Amino acid sequence: MNIKLLKALCETPGVPGHEDRVRKLIQKEAKGLFDEVSTDAMGSLHCVKKGKGRNPQKIMLLCHMDEIGFLVSHITDKGFVYLQTVGGFDPRNLFSRRVLVCTETGDLKAVMNPAGRPVHIASPEDRKRIPQPHEFFVDTGLGAKAQDVVKVGDMVVMDEPFLEMGDKVVSKALDNRIACWLGIEAARGLGKTKTKSEIHVVFTTQEEVGLRGARTASFAVQPDIGIGIDTTLACDTPGVPEQDRTTEQGKGFGLHIRDGSYIADKGLVADIAALAEKKKIPYQRTMLRSGGQDGAAAQQAAAGARAVGIVVGTRYIHTVTEMIEKSDLKAAKDILVAYLNAN
Ligand SMILES: [Zn+2]
Repeated sequence: MNIKLLKALCETPGVPGHEDRVRKLIQKEAKGLFDEVSTDAMGSLHCVKKGKGRNPQKIMLLCHMDEIGFLVSHITDKGFVYLQTVGGFDPRNLFSRRVLVCTETGDLKAVMNPAGRPVHIASPEDRKRIPQPHEFFVDTGLGAKAQDVVKVGDMVVMDEPFLEMGDKVVSKALDNRIACWLGIEAARGLGKTKTKSEIHVVFTTQEEVGLRGARTASFAVQPDIGIGIDTTLACDTPGVPEQDRTTEQGKGFGLHIRDGSYIADKGLVADIAALAEKKKIPYQRTMLRSGGQDGAAAQQAAAGARAVGIVVGTRYIHTVTEMIEKSDLKAAKDILVAYLNAN
């Protein structure tokens, strides 16, 4: 497995509306894998592999490039930096974090904490209260000079290294750089094979703030079939009842049937399940009560498309310790290659 590429993708900063560095990396990796590559007005990268014959059906893979993060909203006279979130953070996971402030003149290492007193002088009420994300601030160590360097609108991301641990990998941005990885590696897996369908692998922008890039990209492509590729929950960990587990790690890719944004096409679910069984690719059927992914945007673009999701169960999602199992990622890649080859 090309873990080196996954590491590079995960460690490249890119929050909604600031995906350019991730896009550049993908453009470099995608060289030679597609017939056409272009960037649209919202920054999504469209990679097309031509199909056979005239008017082949269009299969669109949607892989969002953005990670959850922050944008600078204010810099105080003393140089403390306040933020707005872009994407769904749980403030319980934001205490005492190392972050990277990405400025026009370079990336600054910095730390993030909530306003308030440290444990030694905190009141019993202080200790119980969980601050809201907008109460956290960033200290760049530059003092008032930060005002000269940091600008309102600059991107801030978590600063944590990618880790390999046994059969697992851990990163702050597996959501959704695993999909970027899958889009590239599935195309590499197809190699020079001419598929029946025209394949559009689209690396989308601004998913974490509401599938925005996927909406416009899908309108442009108007696919016959849309496949949303993303992480989903793996709550096979202590403290979550079995019925809320969503996926179990090591049991294969997730065949994503329903979430808050869509209900998958029944025929596609059946086709992919049958293909996985035939090819002996492990999979599990997955449902989420809420949340969404880019497949929904493809499904509802223009006059609509048939849509399904291929997902990878992720523990501790939307934290800096997002964790997947390598065999599940491999299963997701194998089913994508098998499906695209068969269609
Ligand atoms: Zn995602």
